[in-house]
Amino acid sequence: MEYLHKEELLTRQELNRLQQVRLKNTVFQCTKSSFYRNKLAYAGVRVGDINSVQEVQKLPFTTKEDLRSQYPYGLLTVPVDKLVRLHASSGTTGAPTVIVHTRNDLNTWADLVARCMHMVGVRDTDVFQNISGYGLFTGGLGIHYGAERLGCLTIPAGAGNSKRQIKLLKDFKVTVAHIIPSYALHLSTVFDEMGVDPKSLYLRILLIGAEPHTEEIRQRIEDIYGVKAYNSYGLSEMNGPGVAFECECQEGMHIWEDAYLPEIVDPETLEPVPEGEVGELVLTTLTREGMPIIRYRTKDLTRFIPGKCPCGREHRRIDRILGRSDDMIILKGVNIYPMQVEKVLMSMPEVGQNYLIELIKEGYLDQMRVKVEIREEYFVEDMRALKELQQKIAHKLKDEILITPRVELVESNSLPKTEGKAKRVVDLRGGK
Ligand code: ADP
Ligand code: ZN
Repeated sequence: MEYLHKEELLTRQELNRLQQVRLKNTVFQCTKSSFYRNKLAYAGVRVGDINSVQEVQKLPFTTKEDLRSQYPYGLLTVPVDKLVRLHASSGTTGAPTVIVHTRNDLNTWADLVARCMHMVGVRDTDVFQNISGYGLFTGGLGIHYGAERLGCLTIPAGAGNSKRQIKLLKDFKVTVAHIIPSYALHLSTVFDEMGVDPKSLYLRILLIGAEPHTEEIRQRIEDIYGVKAYNSYGLSEMNGPGVAFECECQEGMHIWEDAYLPEIVDPETLEPVPEGEVGELVLTTLTREGMPIIRYRTKDLTRFIPGKCPCGREHRRIDRILGRSDDMIILKGVNIYPMQVEKVLMSMPEVGQNYLIELIKEGYLDQMRVKVEIREEYFVEDMRALKELQQKIAHKLKDEILITPRVELVESNSLPKTEGKAKRVVDLRGGK
């Protein structure tokens, strides 16, 4: 195995030992913030009580609400003058949370991102385009410094301005790009408009992430661009990108366990789920200096993939993120995740590159309406053919989600697009 850091090669036992030491250090570091001092005292835990990785379970959880309540500097464990960078989350589910970094923190973060990129074959000879919002969003600078650390010629293209993106990709013979999956699909429609075949570029690797997406979306992206697309998972509270990443086997994402201690818990009971079952991912930073975080409840649902990865790395793997626990839609007593809808739609050749789930009221009843973009060649004048397609989609959805949604076919490229994370669900029920 080609590796960038020797940490990639650590065995389970070595990782365990390293985590044990780093966990204790982290808890000690946390006692320097008034927030954690109080939280630990309230939970009745002292640094001396944490002598094994399992004992992480004695520690209290940290939530997004905790971070919001401590805004702006409540979790700091170093003086402000030791800080060199500030980032914030995207604010997908409310007020953004703010995270600050020391120079050491930025250094380890860049290393982690470089390691991810190296793992999937990116090298210093590559030309790398970061098609991602910059600014407070961590997918910009986070990925950027990782690519520079690896030695790639790095183009900070930012988000949007699709025609310029394509021009940059072409003119500078870009070989690797980082892009949000929904934008990769949208960009493909701009390629079509410009009459450029994405396969005619020099691209060889795509890094996709920052939002939930199905295997079906990955397949589409790989087919359209004729490259491998690797899933990248991270969250600003844990730095950003570089937390978990697929290796070349594409069988789940390795969590870098020298830097993060992962747990998967039942979101109701907060007890660990049996190995291999789906639950909420909980993460503890193991190397962060300026703003360490203990047992952060990510709200992201996933499972540990049992067994060893064929690549040989023993850092545990998590499965593709199913969604956030707050993405779950309850309709007519049935629990539905937007990714279930996406999976069905994106496996159908007639369906274009975008869709939108709307929650509506029909009389007193809640109903789901799914707006589906249809590829131009299928969007024909023949009303009967369209009606049949609409029914076919509704049936396939019912098989997956157990209720029959309203399906509305719309023209390719007509649904609202975002430059950042796609908004897949809109609640139009009002008063709820
Ligand atoms: P916000 O939580 O406000 O969206 P972030 O920009 O920190 O702010 O985004 C982190 C979140 O994005 C994660 O908690 C997760 O829900 C989602 N996310 C990031 N990467 C992926 C990925 N590869 N697959 C699925 N979801 C992802
Ligand atoms: Zn692997």
